[in-house]
Amino acid sequence: MDNSNTRNPSVAVIGAGMTGILMAIKLREAGISDITILEKADKVGGTWRENTYPGVACDVPSHMYTYAFRRNPEWNHRMAHGEQIQDYFQQVANEYGITDQVRFNESLDKSHYRDGKWYLTSSKGNEFVVDFVVAATGILHHPAYPEIKGLDSFGGAMWHTARWNHDVDLAGKRVGIIGTGSTACQVISEIAKTAGHLTVFQRTPQWICPLPDHDYSETEKARMRANPKRMDRTANVSAFLFRNTFSKAVTGSKLNHAVISWLTKRNLRRSVRDPELRAKLTPDYPVGCKRLIFSNTFYEAVQRENVHLETHGIDHIEAGGVTTRDGNQHDLDVLILATGFSPFNFMRPMDLRGRDGLSIDEAWSKKVQAYRSVCLPGFPNFFLMLGPNTPIGNYSVIAMSEVQSQYVLKLIDRWRSGTLETVEATEDAKARFNAHLRKGMANTVWVGGCQSWYLDEDGDPALWPYSWQQWEKEMAEPDLGDFHRRAPAEIVPLQPAEKAA
Ligand code: NAP
Repeated sequence: MDNSNTRNPSVAVIGAGMTGILMAIKLREAGISDITILEKADKVGGTWRENTYPGVACDVPSHMYTYAFRRNPEWNHRMAHGEQIQDYFQQVANEYGITDQVRFNESLDKSHYRDGKWYLTSSKGNEFVVDFVVAATGILHHPAYPEIKGLDSFGGAMWHTARWNHDVDLAGKRVGIIGTGSTACQVISEIAKTAGHLTVFQRTPQWICPLPDHDYSETEKARMRANPKRMDRTANVSAFLFRNTFSKAVTGSKLNHAVISWLTKRNLRRSVRDPELRAKLTPDYPVGCKRLIFSNTFYEAVQRENVHLETHGIDHIEAGGVTTRDGNQHDLDVLILATGFSPFNFMRPMDLRGRDGLSIDEAWSKKVQAYRSVCLPGFPNFFLMLGPNTPIGNYSVIAMSEVQSQYVLKLIDRWRSGTLETVEATEDAKARFNAHLRKGMANTVWVGGCQSWYLDEDGDPALWPYSWQQWEKEMAEPDLGDFHRRAPAEIVPLQPAEKAA
């Protein structure tokens, strides 16, 4: 679109992780230069900056886990390690001149909308007035701490996996880990090699699918460097497989589900010969109900002599260790909480107020919902990246963000041209969109009887219940009939001073 005769917006991007970097690059490409980027930490990278636990890696193939406009021939492994992914994001942010533009160590504390503008106050007390806000604050960034009696009385070192304590050497120590999710499986595989003894406290077994890793040789990397199309092809093959096998398996294709289930169950049968241990590791829910874990090392790790899989359930924790419901005390020097995240907090605790003083807590008091995952009725000119019902599940969040950033830019374009006075989806559009989601949910495997972080308080999955292809199609063009053409009249709330008078 030629935007030479149109309004040029100012945009605040909150967060300089994978999505914030992408959004800033894409806004620039669209000719928008007035961009303020706030980042709470001292580096870009988001989740890859925060998760530094041993074994941290991506379980989506690395050539698929890159921006489509900036492939990376340097990946060392098919499943890239966290450190290399963090380097990649830093490099991209530097190359595109984003790093210099980020206001580091400055988070967004408060923001309110009034009469076509957003008024922001940062943690440093700086104030900004902008036309648009893009919350690129990620999904899994609020560590969830378990509610277990006596947790705080533990006398040894204890930390959450997202806050890894690198000062403690685990070699030779008695280590306990709570949880067996994607994070725990990576950590366990790694620390089992050095811990004196490792007790894995498993509440619910997980299905684990094999996904062989591969180290890229210098020759392979040189070929990728010489021929970028080779990288595209590698990425596209992985994407094709994920879209047409796994994504369909969890959203209703019985045949695909049977194939994935067979592969996963065979993996358990072949990897764990001891029937008692195998029984402990066998879930009673369908494959894919919880996020499927891809690992070639976890089963091997739990069969080591220095590892014990504890399934009796935790009764309480005290200074010396963990007591399980069978009355056994497990003496520990270190306790690691691999207990996941609170995914429904999104950009909170930010004090976010939209039109008519509506707070985000009020808007979401009954249910966390959005229109097309990115737009919130009552919050004009505000976009939430990777919001509720983004098609998470084992797929590249980068690909998801790329689709969403295009959608957001198209909406900003409509504002620039004056087609939309403000960008605000209607309540009715949100209701219709969520009814459409609900219809698809019944066919998904996520409602197959397990508990997972995918489910909200009502037990509804916060995922996209149809195919990736359908999501791309529905996100290709904004349906302007779902937006207010003219800004709804504002009932401007009284300011405290006015109230007192
Ligand atoms: P998670 O999947 O939510 O797993 C949390 C684990 O902690 C579960 O095993 C859970 O048991 C256990 N747990 C929680 N509270 C407990 C309690 N009070 N007592 C006992 N056990 C308790 O969290 P995660 O492993 O950090 O993974 C979260 C997501 O991060 C993944 O699903 C994935 O999307 C992402 N991730 C991705 C990668 C990657 O390679 N791309 C790697 C790591 C993480 P229950 O099952 O019984 O609830």
